[in-house]
Amino acid sequence: MTDETEADLTGGTARRRPKANVEQVGGRKLKPSTLMMGHGYDPVLSEGSLKPPIFLTSTFVFPNAAAGKRHFEGVTGKRPGGAEGLVYSRFNGPNQEILEDRLALWEEAEDALAFSSGMSAIATLFLSMTKPGDTIVHSGPLYAATETLIGRILGKFGVKWLDFPAGATREEIDAVLSEAASGNVALIYLESPANPTNALVDVEAVAASRDAIFTGENKPPIAIDNTFLGPLWAKPLDQGADIVVYSLTKYAGGHSDLVAGGVLGSKEHINTIRLMRNTIGTICDPNTAWMLLRSLETLELRMSRAGENAAKVCEFLAAHPKVEKVGYLGFLDRGDDARQADIYRRHCTGAGSTFSLYLKGGEKEAFAFLDSLKIAKLAVSLGGTETLASHPAGMTHLSVPEARKQALGITDNLVRISIGVEDADDLIADFEEALKAV
Ligand SMILES: *Cc1c(COP(=O)(O)O)cnc(C)c1O
Repeated sequence: MTDETEADLTGGTARRRPKANVEQVGGRKLKPSTLMMGHGYDPVLSEGSLKPPIFLTSTFVFPNAAAGKRHFEGVTGKRPGGAEGLVYSRFNGPNQEILEDRLALWEEAEDALAFSSGMSAIATLFLSMTKPGDTIVHSGPLYAATETLIGRILGKFGVKWLDFPAGATREEIDAVLSEAASGNVALIYLESPANPTNALVDVEAVAASRDAIFTGENKPPIAIDNTFLGPLWAKPLDQGADIVVYSLTKYAGGHSDLVAGGVLGSKEHINTIRLMRNTIGTICDPNTAWMLLRSLETLELRMSRAGENAAKVCEFLAAHPKVEKVGYLGFLDRGDDARQADIYRRHCTGAGSTFSLYLKGGEKEAFAFLDSLKIAKLAVSLGGTETLASHPAGMTHLSVPEARKQALGITDNLVRISIGVEDADDLIADFEEALKAV
């Protein structure tokens, strides 16, 4: 692929990022789905192996002492940009670096980091950006563990928070950011769509509000959890977000067989977060990184198919007499919430494959439906090749206080469904039969 790699310049490690990645052909800029098969990997550095080997090693041999010193200058942040070579597996490894190069491509981010879970990615982001007395302003609701992390864990260390509802208008966002601006706002943290309400956050409005209220040094970065729609159906960096967070456990991993996380953004932000990851060791392991490389090769195929399947299944469900409502982003255009429909048109290129199904009835009806499914599996999580169904009120949101459950629409008749890549008509048959049992 290339004869001059950074390895030649820094004295060499098992693998360094090839300098001459094939990123265009005949002037045509290649798409991520093409680049997932080779980008960031040079077979010449691994005995010609078409696929990257899994590098199971805890440490890397330096070619000479001076190279070792230079690498440590990078690792410790004395020199920005991270190590120029591989040092020690808590900091990085070849599989993770290839993964990070490829992850960044999906959102045209300058840089990316891989983590051992979505939550370790989020925790490392928060730890790297906040100090006692700072405020995190966030959209609500958030993934439950993220809310716990902000409210109960960072709270213990003196970090404060303020929130606005996911669907907030520019005026509502302005009001919360203005209130927060009396202190030091370290981070604006968003999650869109919110789970399980599916409310979309107006990232453009958040960015405009931030830019109007904060200036220069005080301007907090905007981070967003893009797990539900990214990277295929939403690219929030385009709407003014600075940092994108992923649970790669979901669509990116896509086979319900691994747990991992990712953070994407500018080199400057990523360097700040990398220093914290180097310190606490929240990087994913080489085997998981390798599995994710395999997953990314089919990311677009899988997500496209799941999205098409979900559209068909939702049409069927919405027309069924035992169904009260289907909370599916693809239906926003025909609903009466003009503002959410407008955000959807500006921010999303697809409706995803995770949605809320409200049955007529309550827990009894929801359980009868769930217990009768034969293809769809009864499990929490989302974004896998297989269709999953769960009962938020009785499972993921069991401990949420009753009043907040009502406010969020987490009712006993709600079933959360994540559609996979099976045959759409088979899935419809499964749902049709299960609805008969209700
Ligand atoms: C699953 C999930 C997380 C947490 O990710 P893990 O990989 O389970 O740690 C965070 N945010 C969202 C939106 C999720 O769905």
